Amino acid sequence: MSKHIRYNIQNFNKKDLQNTFKRIKRAGFSGVVIPAARPFISDLNGECEFFPVDELAYLAREQDLDLTLEFNIFESWYVWKHQNFSAPVKFNNSPYYPAQEKNYYPICPNNPLAEKRIERILSLLETVPESVALLISEMGFPFNWMENNLDIQNSHPPFCYCPFCLGEFSEYIDELVTEPQQVENNFRYWMDWRINVIYKYFVDIFSNLIDNPLIISIPPLSLIDLPFVTGQIPIAFLREDARIAPPLLHVSKNKNFRWVIDQLRHYELEMDENDLIPILELNSDKVDNLEFIEKRGYQDVIYDDWDKFLEL
Ligand SMILES: [Zn+2]
Repeated sequence: MSKHIRYNIQNFNKKDLQNTFKRIKRAGFSGVVIPAARPFISDLNGECEFFPVDELAYLAREQDLDLTLEFNIFESWYVWKHQNFSAPVKFNNSPYYPAQEKNYYPICPNNPLAEKRIERILSLLETVPESVALLISEMGFPFNWMENNLDIQNSHPPFCYCPFCLGEFSEYIDELVTEPQQVENNFRYWMDWRINVIYKYFVDIFSNLIDNPLIISIPPLSLIDLPFVTGQIPIAFLREDARIAPPLLHVSKNKNFRWVIDQLRHYELEMDENDLIPILELNSDKVDNLEFIEKRGYQDVIYDDWDKFLEL
């Protein structure tokens, strides 16, 4: 089993990174997962949204660490700062605002800026070796699962009703849709359409990758709820040889480790062990968790994260 650890870089500093990568290697990890987008900065000052991924690949290889780059797809504070950005819209016609500063900045999949951003990400990936893996997160929309209690029974799934969405959906059903209520009347079609829109992004990504391993992170919900809540169909991702990484962050989600085990068992009913990459949160019961996971024979496991590891 290969153990990877997520490392949230604050600033790109070569010397610091070299040191940290060395320590990560010495701590027994074979790989490092790095969110490629910079954390929120109030003054952009001409900065690019992403860290120099080619240099990250070089530094990781220098320490003989596998590198996985993580990209959030429909979430970016950087895009929110764009002068042409318009926020996704709720059923009551009010915009979705980030829950709090520096947190979750949803982008509508039908916003042209979302598509532009994917092009940018794909061209960035051309600068890294094929051995660098790609972890795609937040590809469901708009579902802030970190802030959600994950009890979605009887709730209306979060949708976006922005002009882009209503326009695209009108074309899809060949009928002019201008009001959220019309969406309600065509609920079934709206669901199918949203799945198509999101799947198209997935196709864009996997068909443009040369040979880089592709991993899709899905919110830790049951497989049957995922299409309804997020528009994602994990089984369709598996068909294209992507692997699935559920973030089973039990501490952050106020759950015990039993929940992690139950979720994994649930996923394993539908997919092969090798298609699953559990993302596990480290805390003081880390040793038990490791023992349990190591017995299961997963090919890869991602631990969250390096800062928490240092606190143990
Ligand atoms: Zn929209």
